[in-house]
Amino acid sequence: MKIDVVTLFPGMFSGPLQESILARAQAKGLVQVRVVNLRDYAAGRHRVTDDYAFGGGGGMVLKPEPLFACVEALRGPDSRVILLDPQGERFTQALARRLARESHLILLCGRYEGVDERVRQNLVDEEISIGDYVLTGGEFPALVVADAVIRLLPGVLGDEAAPDQDSFSTGLLEHPQYTRPEEFRGLRVPEVLLSGDHPRIARWRRIMALWRTFQRRPDLLETADLTPDEQKLIEAFKQGKRPEEYLA
Ligand code: SAM
Repeated sequence: MKIDVVTLFPGMFSGPLQESILARAQAKGLVQVRVVNLRDYAAGRHRVTDDYAFGGGGGMVLKPEPLFACVEALRGPDSRVILLDPQGERFTQALARRLARESHLILLCGRYEGVDERVRQNLVDEEISIGDYVLTGGEFPALVVADAVIRLLPGVLGDEAAPDQDSFSTGLLEHPQYTRPEEFRGLRVPEVLLSGDHPRIARWRRIMALWRTFQRRPDLLETADLTPDEQKLIEAFKQGKRPEEYLA
């Protein structure tokens, strides 16, 4: 996969893209990330990329010419052009999974009051918001999207199965996790996790994922893929039952 990020502030990407899993994924050739300076596509001696909003009011708007020139230079037949924008579709794990199947993403980072409406309507394939709040620019959202997508690419995470069990991938929140020591300040790791009994461990994890989702994100249960037994368990939780009663 290739990801091009178009920004007026390329320096904001140097740290995050050069650390840990994102750096290793690039070094292994699993993804190629390029940070493109929008200013390089602006015309004139001053390379102006923004201007006042027609109609008045404070704040600047990113001009269409450099954005069109930039995307037209980068775009190929398989490119997907994405504008990061608080008015876009809410970013989810399902959307990350869909984007991970693309071969070339072009992520456009807005700034100031945003981009000229003609960019939104005529240049981009989709708009993505990372949440209902407004940031100063699209750089952090682009990093959020790139990170969520890159970790799903085959070979990026050490354990291929790991993303399948993550929160939202199964439609539920993930089960609780523990590591060594077995006892810390009198707090013990659940015995089942030390048992080596893998079917029992899988059952514990599934029940705890259901419990955790029931407690924290009951909305997810409406669309999660549950067996009839699991649906009965959720009904029991609603009646006040606790997971311990089913884990004996
Ligand atoms: N005036 C715009 C509005 O009210 O919809 C907000 C512009 S915002 C200050 C500047 C840029 O930050 C946007 O063009 C977008 O690229 C980015 N941005 C801000 N919040 C975002 C969010 N929640 N998700 C994605 N991008 C965001």
